[in-house]
Amino acid sequence: MATFEELKVNKSILKALDDLGFEQPTPIQEKAIPVIRSGADVLGIAQTGTGKTAAYLLPIFMKLVKAEGEDPRALVLVPTRELSIQVGADIEELTEYSNIRHAAVFGGIGWTKHAELLEPGIDILVATPGRLFDLYHAGALSLKKIKTLVIDEADRMLDMGFMPQIRRLLEIIPVKRQNLLFSATFNEKVEEMCHEFLDFPERVEIAPSATPAELVQQSFFKVPNFRTKLNLIRYLLEDEERFNRVIIFTRTKENAEAVFKIIKRKTEGEKRILHSNKGQNTRLNAIQAFKDGEVRILITTDVSARGIDVSKVTHVFNFDLPQRYDDYVHRIGRTARANNHGEAIALVDPSEEYHLNKIEEIIRMGIPERFLPEEVELVETGKEERQQQAREIDRQKKLENPDYKGAFHQKKRKPSKKSSVQPRPSGKQKKHKRPGKRR
Ligand code: AMP
Repeated sequence: MATFEELKVNKSILKALDDLGFEQPTPIQEKAIPVIRSGADVLGIAQTGTGKTAAYLLPIFMKLVKAEGEDPRALVLVPTRELSIQVGADIEELTEYSNIRHAAVFGGIGWTKHAELLEPGIDILVATPGRLFDLYHAGALSLKKIKTLVIDEADRMLDMGFMPQIRRLLEIIPVKRQNLLFSATFNEKVEEMCHEFLDFPERVEIAPSATPAELVQQSFFKVPNFRTKLNLIRYLLEDEERFNRVIIFTRTKENAEAVFKIIKRKTEGEKRILHSNKGQNTRLNAIQAFKDGEVRILITTDVSARGIDVSKVTHVFNFDLPQRYDDYVHRIGRTARANNHGEAIALVDPSEEYHLNKIEEIIRMGIPERFLPEEVELVETGKEERQQQAREIDRQKKLENPDYKGAFHQKKRKPSKKSSVQPRPSGKQKKHKRPGKRR
């Protein structure tokens, strides 16, 4: 697997990736970045959650190098206000140490505000089609320097009837440019769009995440909080015969550590439990011991689990749901290898139901719910955790509906050092830096 360094990502961007905790490129990034860098037109088929935004943004940053001139050189066309804000926020985070300037614009508020954002000069513009034309016709925006055009969520763009605007846009922007079209799905209409807009496109696609190993029996429990999750896992693990070789996935190292400590303590100091998030050596030893069958339970994060190839894993627990939804598919693919049967069980707290729905969309199937066994002690949710869950639910509601006025006030952002940056919408939290400990 390539690293970001091997993909030749600039130093300043590498630093931002490091801050964000992006340790390795996702599969779509690994595939798309070199192809986009080659200058070819690209059709990328990837859903939200796969890292597709950075897959097109990183090579754009490499091409732009640094701030230059006044007119935007890259244009990202998006169907919705929500996505415009999201992509703008991603650019802001990724260019933390670079002087590349951007603005994210969308309808629904007066265009003059957006015109002001463009005034000092920008390098990347993220825009919904309607707002793009508002600014263009008002003379607030020049598109003469555009060298890269991205059409993101092309399928949605088509569903929303934006085709005429896109055609008009292509008449205005320079003919000599690179086109990148990203779509979550590929159908006849998207294919037509490709024929019309792309020149000999290279197609990049990640293995369809819609096909989790058929032998995996999936289910989920609704669990109110972290401690009840621990009680449930402990209870289930008592059945050693059934839960014979188990991987427990957690989203963060802190959670892995907490689950490890508590489960180890409560399973009569069971020796056959390890977690893979210590140093590299301990990690490899843990994985080897697990492979050899000396260890029954392995606790790991997604990152540490890379490369674990063990057959006969009977159960995969999703102690919490991954933020990148294709990781769910990778996680459950650890069981039911080599024609063995396997079970994948997710523990879902109220703030994770949103992610569960998104995962079900991606795998295109419903995951059956199971009910908590009576023997499992239900612990009341503590104040801090309740608030964390409520905040997260708020954030999700805002993602779905940017007009939603959250129950929580956002801390004031410090003014950006870059003049033309679109402010993050109020209430948006840094996606990547969610608190790890959830007790
Ligand atoms: P996207 O598919 O672009 O909506 O991205 C989904 C999520 O994955 C976002 O929260 C990104 O910030 C995150 N992400 C993108 N690339 C990586 C990476 N290489 N490693 C970890 N997380 C990533």
